[in-house]
Amino acid sequence: MSTATSTLLDHASDPPSPAPGQEHSPNDLQGITESLQAAVLSDEAHASPVLKRHRDLWFSDGSVVLRAEDTLFRVHMSQLSRKSLFFRHMFDMPPPSQSLGSNADAADSMLEGCPLLTMEDAAEDWINLLHALYDGPWFGNNDRDDFRVVSGILRLSTKYIIDSLRKRALDHLLVAWPSTLKDWDAREDIARIYELETANHRGFRYPSPIAIIDLARENDTPELLPAAFYDLSRYHFHEIYESGEGEPLSQPPLAHTLGASDIQRLTLGKEAALHTITTLIQSMGNGPHRDAVHPTHLSHPRHNRRSSGSVCVSAAACRKDFEELVELATQHYLFDRGRGCCDPLYAAEELGQLKSAEFSECKACARALESWAARERQRIWKMIPSWFRLKP
Ligand SMILES: [Zn+2]
Repeated sequence: MSTATSTLLDHASDPPSPAPGQEHSPNDLQGITESLQAAVLSDEAHASPVLKRHRDLWFSDGSVVLRAEDTLFRVHMSQLSRKSLFFRHMFDMPPPSQSLGSNADAADSMLEGCPLLTMEDAAEDWINLLHALYDGPWFGNNDRDDFRVVSGILRLSTKYIIDSLRKRALDHLLVAWPSTLKDWDAREDIARIYELETANHRGFRYPSPIAIIDLARENDTPELLPAAFYDLSRYHFHEIYESGEGEPLSQPPLAHTLGASDIQRLTLGKEAALHTITTLIQSMGNGPHRDAVHPTHLSHPRHNRRSSGSVCVSAAACRKDFEELVELATQHYLFDRGRGCCDPLYAAEELGQLKSAEFSECKACARALESWAARERQRIWKMIPSWFRLKP
């Protein structure tokens, strides 16, 4: 190793170190060699960070050593080349050793006979990527811990052109940040169950939508944006911009922030969503009960009423019912700013269930309200990209 920039003293993730000088079995020739090498490296650069070998991702027959932050991985050029177009091209070019990024000191470095490449990425991302390459990706349930793994894999598989893994990571993220209303509803059901079971805000079930927007921008995955922007727009502005500790959008240090153009998108989209709630309530007052067939339109109303259940049994009473529902919805969503006041998909679903077909005296109007809500929700879902000025 020519750079003398590092000390190699420890193994990442290992149990507590034994006493100095006993790191390796006396019979372990390889261990003695490593100890000697570590001592030399330590003398050469006492002010440098301590480099740690990753416990699992250090293969004795590996042919290249990657360094990310203070972690070293000894892996196989053949495995990297097989999966990554970037590495395939790089290893095809003689000499096989070269620096990535700005660390010119690392150029032509060797460690234990392997070229040493310094990667300008987070060590955690490399751990997740290499595990996915060697063991296959093990994606979880799209919660916050899973996001740390999947986002790292997406970042590095984008950067190093590992197309198959990138697609799998993106497909996995799209389960939680979907492009269809059906998948959105499934995602919301999971958040609802989480909230019931844990009594936490449902926003904690998934990563912050700001992190998703940031990831999508960084890795050119616009598919994630509509759901992420919609989710974000459901929060009040003070929750977005003045989020306190312990709130769903509070971010760790050095965390994600929205760029100026995304703040503009958020503001425009949120205004459109709020406007949609108002028009939804108005439309409920004007519409659904008129979709139910009125008895005077039928030649044998009594017969039809009994047989089909699609006929309004009491137009005047139902009209009054709907007026009351409009008042109730206005009070809840617009004046009280109750749950769903920034979430037209949620509000429409709730409005559709205000007259349950099971209990309502007029089943025709209850069903008309339900199907009106389902149509409105489809319409709203299709509008979301344009609210946030995203390409559909
Ligand atoms: Zn009716």
